[in-house]
Amino acid sequence: MRHVCSLILILIHAINFAAVAKSSDINQKKKSVYIEGYIPNPQAPETGVRKVYLLIENGLIKKKSHSKFVVQDNVRKITEKQYGPMLLSSGFIDLHGHLKYHVIPLWKEAQGQFGNRFDWRAKTSYKQNVTSYLNNDALGSSSDPQSLYCQTYHYAEIKALVGGVTSVQGIGQDSTCTAGLFARNVEIQSDYNESTDIRVSSEMINPNSSNYLQNSILPEVIRNNQSIDAVFTEKLALASETSTTVPSAFKSFMELRTHYLKYFSRIVPIGDIRGFIAHLSEGRRQDFYNKLEYKAARVAGLTQKGLIIIHGVGLDEQDFIHASQNEINFVWSPFSNLLLYGETFDVKKAIHYGLNVSLGSDWSPSGSKNLLDEAKIAKKYLSLKNEHISDRKIYEMMTINPAKALKLDHKLGRLDENYLGDIVAFKLKSFRSNPFTQIIESHPSDIQFVMVGGQMVVAKERLTHSSSNFDSLLSKDDLNKYSKCSVYKTTKIAHGLLSYSDLVENLKTVFPVLDTPTSCNDDYYTQSTQQIPLLIKNGQLSQQNDDQESQKFYPLNKQLQSLLSPNHRTND
Ligand SMILES: [Zn+2]
Repeated sequence: MRHVCSLILILIHAINFAAVAKSSDINQKKKSVYIEGYIPNPQAPETGVRKVYLLIENGLIKKKSHSKFVVQDNVRKITEKQYGPMLLSSGFIDLHGHLKYHVIPLWKEAQGQFGNRFDWRAKTSYKQNVTSYLNNDALGSSSDPQSLYCQTYHYAEIKALVGGVTSVQGIGQDSTCTAGLFARNVEIQSDYNESTDIRVSSEMINPNSSNYLQNSILPEVIRNNQSIDAVFTEKLALASETSTTVPSAFKSFMELRTHYLKYFSRIVPIGDIRGFIAHLSEGRRQDFYNKLEYKAARVAGLTQKGLIIIHGVGLDEQDFIHASQNEINFVWSPFSNLLLYGETFDVKKAIHYGLNVSLGSDWSPSGSKNLLDEAKIAKKYLSLKNEHISDRKIYEMMTINPAKALKLDHKLGRLDENYLGDIVAFKLKSFRSNPFTQIIESHPSDIQFVMVGGQMVVAKERLTHSSSNFDSLLSKDDLNKYSKCSVYKTTKIAHGLLSYSDLVENLKTVFPVLDTPTSCNDDYYTQSTQQIPLLIKNGQLSQQNDDQESQKFYPLNKQLQSLLSPNHRTND
């Protein structure tokens, strides 16, 4: 972020430089910052904290020490004496989002009742309450970074930042929209000073080919140990000249597959792609599409090292074993899964098989406000299911695990020397209790500041006060000491970004009910986070109703399953 001194300069800046890529801001040289705080005690991390002293220079953690050290006078300082004890963490990485939808509040019809993503997408109420708002011509397009369309991204990044998230996924094709903002986008390589890419796709298996794949292609591929191409070639030769089923299924399947195989061929041997993120097996565990997708991707050769699967709810035991052998990563979005399907990813099993799992908040129409909320949902869900996963492991799903999935764990996901200066600081509530629990149970109002590359992006008002000499994108203050609500306002205009209040006013002209940045003052959202047992029950009820309809698919699925057992030789 560049420094601006007056309102006039701010305006000129915003108008003239709106399209400047934010990467140049994130990685540009900034003033050095010295921070005193606490981190989990390295000797016994789950039992308490230990004091740490950090020096951030040029956007990186230059020095980390447990002993106090002297810094030059011109270095900005955040000391315990001045601001109280703070619990420091590396900024959270949200590995699953659809940013432009983060302006839309929870879709009230999502009550855990759907089988798969095609069920709810077909609902009129979904179209009315979700997609219709984004199909509004008044939004403009990503070619204009100041359009309302781009402002939806600005708002989404602010929502992430106020929850301690410093890296987000879900910019899609609209990278021009985030000019001037300060959450890093995992898809933008320059945000990480990387020369290699992360690729993203919403579907891996074209739904138009699903039925034909399951009924006619996959059993033969597996039974005869033939390649999927060979089976398709035979079917195409045998198909009558007037048949359109085989050619169209072949075409829709091959288009995606050819495209994605190219990615994988660039992940391991060449290494110019770091990973490939895709939705797969999203829905109820027993749902037809949901069960099919991993297996279809597997025989198509798409379940390879470097794959990061979003959801993975429909995987069975064999799939987990296969995923583990191929070092596949997963992104778990429990709230979105439970709201839509009443069921979620078998995270306990994934951890049992040593899989790398990260958390993702998905999107606000059927997901959490931010990753800090998602962690609370994850914890609540696990305790309801009596499945013990420690708070430390849940915390790792927000920090080091996504960094590993992105192959950036040498610079992201930890507070260590030479790592990026992406930091979230919480109010330290206890010196001797589990710091991971303290973080997960914290609310955005407990956050003292959020920093990206050493640049303050969200900070308590006392930190941005003129005497403290800290510039921040947003300042926050609590309404009162008993409230969990914070008020956010812009203290510094980034390229192309309006003041926070103008941004909200603008968006309200096209999104009459704009999703709030935190759970504060959103009663429906808060209630929904407390209704996980009801969502699970709704999922079970609609499963029973659907069973009859699904019978025609399941016998064949079982046949596929036995063909895919470890005793059966497969050609992948
Ligand atoms: Zn999604």
